[in-house]
Amino acid sequence: MNVGMKMAHVCDLCGHGYRDARIAFECESYCKAHKSCSPEIVKDAFHAP
Ligand SMILES: [Zn+2]
Repeated sequence: MNVGMKMAHVCDLCGHGYRDARIAFECESYCKAHKSCSPEIVKDAFHAP
């Protein structure tokens, strides 16, 4: 998913952006499972929705 920023990996569910695709994937997995974000994961986001 690209929101126009280079190297942006954005969670499809919550819209937080990550520089690390692996963390974005973890966020998506967590969002899907819990229907909300993990504070532990979101603190690594550089872009908030
Ligand atoms: Zn998310």
